[in-house]
Amino acid sequence: MPESTLRSVPLLDLKAQYAPIREEIRAAIDRVADSQYFILGPEVEALEREVAAYSQCRFGIGMSSGTDALTAAMMAIDVGPGDEVITTPYSFFATAGCIARLGAQAVFVDIDPLTFNLDPAGIEAAITGQTKAILPVHLYGQMADMDPIIAIAARHNLIVIEDAAQAIGAEYHGRRAGSIGHFGCFSFFPSKNLGGFGDGGMVTTNDPALAEKAKWLRNHGMNPKYYHKYIGGNFRLDALQAAVLRIKLKYLDSWTAGRQRNADRYRRLFAEAGLTQPATRNPQSVVPPFDAGFGRHVYNQFVIRTSRRDAVITQLKARQIGHEIYYPLPLHLQECFAGWGYRPGDFPHSEAAAAETLALPIYPELTEELQAAVVAAIAAA
Ligand SMILES: *Cc1c(COP(=O)(O)O)cnc(C)c1O
Repeated sequence: MPESTLRSVPLLDLKAQYAPIREEIRAAIDRVADSQYFILGPEVEALEREVAAYSQCRFGIGMSSGTDALTAAMMAIDVGPGDEVITTPYSFFATAGCIARLGAQAVFVDIDPLTFNLDPAGIEAAITGQTKAILPVHLYGQMADMDPIIAIAARHNLIVIEDAAQAIGAEYHGRRAGSIGHFGCFSFFPSKNLGGFGDGGMVTTNDPALAEKAKWLRNHGMNPKYYHKYIGGNFRLDALQAAVLRIKLKYLDSWTAGRQRNADRYRRLFAEAGLTQPATRNPQSVVPPFDAGFGRHVYNQFVIRTSRRDAVITQLKARQIGHEIYYPLPLHLQECFAGWGYRPGDFPHSEAAAAETLALPIYPELTEELQAAVVAAIAAA
């Protein structure tokens, strides 16, 4: 192909996001620098109120990362040795890593192959006398099927913790991610829809007692100063991150609208290129993300499914188009979890997803021209 038609498309373009808000962010950073108040404090408290309100929750507790948010939420319900937490094998490592770090066991349940989220149909059979919680993940920005999950949890007296790291602002029948379970856990890692200038996270809840416990655990279980009721950790959020995130939160809805517009545009471009068939359990060509019809999908990732992934990747690489496999090895097959005794074949839908999915650029600033270049590369494969 002639050099002039080569295009370089990044998977994510944070510089494009930063340019129009640069002055505003720098002023916020200056405000913190002038205050010399760096850890927790008024900026963090303001962000907690704002993210809680945005997520339709009563309480927000700032954390040092999404991983620490998950850890603190599980510590708040005393997850520990002998306990089991039911979750999906098809997620980022932290989802199961937090369970293991507390000495508990992750009990995996396979995903729905269309949505890639925990399939409620498999949950009840996985419940034992040791089960303490269910941990659904709202993968790629679409919420898990929460009504049946909540009903099962209520029947068995279990806690529900939502891993909403990829789903800030996503909705399930009008209810926002993080507001439905006992806890919601958010990440402000730079590649998330609301990303800081480093690590950050938040726990949300509507329960005042759980909110208070999570808040203590964030700071070594300490209250009052130097009196420790619980063994917590240092899961505190920095004021600099909070100040940056507060500016970015004002733009989140417009960025989300950009992601949704780009998702629609991919669907049209795929159809025009003759690449798509309706979503099917037996994908032949390119299967775009399945919309479960629950409501607002915030497209942290736009993940297609194709049985010809290697050929597609070859074309994308040749044209310098960003892409990523989320995630190439399901959690039940990770080396560090070998002690849990899972085997290949245990969760066929998760294993098939790991073999066939591919994330394409979806960031809000992406143009139609660049998207057309992505689709052309896939068509060439
Ligand atoms: C990013 C992510 C996390 C962890 O968040 P960090 O802020 O990186 O610690 C947890 N779960 C999921 C699904 C994620 O995507």
